[in-house]
Amino acid sequence: MALIPVQRPSIGKEELKAVEAVFKTGWLGMGSVTKEFEDALKAFLGARHVVATNNGTAALHLAFDSIGLKPGDEVIVPSFTFVASVQPITATGAKPIFCEVEEDTLNIDVNDAASRITKRTKAIVPVHYRGMPCDMEGVMKLAKEHGLRVVEDAAHAIGSYYKGRRIGSFGDLACFSFDPIKTVTCGEGGAITTQDDGLLDLLQRKRILGIDRDTWSRYQNKRSWFYDVTTQGYRYHMSNINAAIGLAQLKKFDAHNSRKLSIAKTYDQEFAGLDRFQLLRTDYNGLSLFMYIIKVREGRDRLMKFLEERDIGSGIHYIPSHLFTLYGKNKVHLPVTERLFEQILTLPLFPDMTDDQVARVVSAIKEWKG
Ligand SMILES: *Cc1c(COP(=O)(O)O)cnc(C)c1O
Repeated sequence: MALIPVQRPSIGKEELKAVEAVFKTGWLGMGSVTKEFEDALKAFLGARHVVATNNGTAALHLAFDSIGLKPGDEVIVPSFTFVASVQPITATGAKPIFCEVEEDTLNIDVNDAASRITKRTKAIVPVHYRGMPCDMEGVMKLAKEHGLRVVEDAAHAIGSYYKGRRIGSFGDLACFSFDPIKTVTCGEGGAITTQDDGLLDLLQRKRILGIDRDTWSRYQNKRSWFYDVTTQGYRYHMSNINAAIGLAQLKKFDAHNSRKLSIAKTYDQEFAGLDRFQLLRTDYNGLSLFMYIIKVREGRDRLMKFLEERDIGSGIHYIPSHLFTLYGKNKVHLPVTERLFEQILTLPLFPDMTDDQVARVVSAIKEWKG
């Protein structure tokens, strides 16, 4: 039987047509389409400012750099996340301090995070796992008490609502990813949102080699030949080509998300009575769901193999960062995170998944006896 992948982008002729239109203008790099995508994101997210980047990791690095992280600083981040949340912290010279997540949501455990704050703590990074918003009220309260900056890793959470507003305007900065399998894709891409007028200009300069004024001329598909360089910067800007794909994808957001939610609810119903599994706690209200994850009480790796033999893909999101060599390999012990790592399994979920494919996954899971 044909393989059912865990994730795959849902892209089509609309995205191709948008790229073709960019080709015809001859302006492939950052330009007016990048600006159009930023404006569309601003409206979609209800954010004050949006700075588009070439990927989500670059967005996080720009965010950490712009708030002035440096060697000696500490940043609290869940270990249970993609390593792309952590590498940009260490890129600034700051030290990641790994905290636990909640067992039933996989989101940051605010009490555990609080217990790890020291005089050196400068920032906290809530990761909205699967797209489900963290307890941002708790995070913001903690940040206020201790004078911390909040950088949201919203790579999974584009479009999700928290208390009536879309994720992207709660912390000081929120970072999104538009990589190939994320909820909205640009091919590759990312974005930072902020409410802080003071940070916008710095983010825009740092995005393109610290060059002043360049952003404005490029938005009009022009270049400025005379400029000054005012700060350490990078080449992290988003091209017109990538932005064109993103614009086409944003228009499909509602259709894609409702299909994914309906598949996830089917999974929930079908798996609820099986005691070999535990479902995660999911609030479907206002949710933009990125992945479907179940907890397997015992024998997760055997189940992966069982599914593979039936041409059904599955995945493990993610290996906890504190287990990596670079981050000290077990120097800290995080019992909840380590247990979760043994149990989690990501099942196929993507907008173009057919009913037949969903049925195949459901019957394979029900058939597995441990
Ligand atoms: C995808 C992802 C990123 C980074 O995004 P890229 O666009 O792939 O660089 C960061 N954090 C998390 C949790 C992610 O899943």
